[in-house]
Amino acid sequence: MLALILASCETPSGFMGPASRGADALGHRPGPVGFSTVIVDAGHGGKDSGENARRTGLVEKTLALDMARRLKSELSGSFRVVMTRDSDTFVDLDERVREANRYGNGVLVSLHFNASGSRIAGPETYYWRVDSYSLAKRVQRNLMAVTDFHNCRGMVRRRLRLTRNPSIPCILVECGYLTSPSEAKNISDASYRAKLARAIAAAIREQASQGDSGMGPLPAPINAPLSRHGDARS
Ligand SMILES: [Zn+2]
Repeated sequence: MLALILASCETPSGFMGPASRGADALGHRPGPVGFSTVIVDAGHGGKDSGENARRTGLVEKTLALDMARRLKSELSGSFRVVMTRDSDTFVDLDERVREANRYGNGVLVSLHFNASGSRIAGPETYYWRVDSYSLAKRVQRNLMAVTDFHNCRGMVRRRLRLTRNPSIPCILVECGYLTSPSEAKNISDASYRAKLARAIAAAIREQASQGDSGMGPLPAPINAPLSRHGDARS
């Protein structure tokens, strides 16, 4: 089985389609190159507000949709962009996965904002699959380059429904901590959010043109079951 996985990781990069079996379905393959579709997923929505930072009045679902719209307009010239929601509506996570799986030659980028104690601050990028590693690394690197907030976990390998379950490369970006007073002040500024969206868009374009090139060795594949409702988040 290990040999099989290694062999599949050595195949030249490129897409194998949404319905690929076995190791490919688990994302045990190189990262995507030359993809044409980006599924932009605005976290939460409707009855699910996400993080609600009481001190600042910032609401995650609203900011996530704002970021999704900004990212869409950054990418629209070069990619087909699919939004999993474009209004304040509730969309179940499994429904978001099903939507993403309709596009074989695509990647999914889910956008969120974070909350914790007041001292942790900065964007974080979550990935799980081997085929999503380089995209996550590029996104995190670009975000770090445009923000002053670096007191966070950075890039995190975590099995979530949106980092494990889609059949295409998928990452989840926590664009910043609403609970950090100084970061929240920046996040409430549209020009800061525009800067973050441009950084994410540039990372997606880099991945599409360069694949895994220059991103170092890929992480080891992990065989893990689908993430389900109720799984511990960390
Ligand atoms: Zn969220």
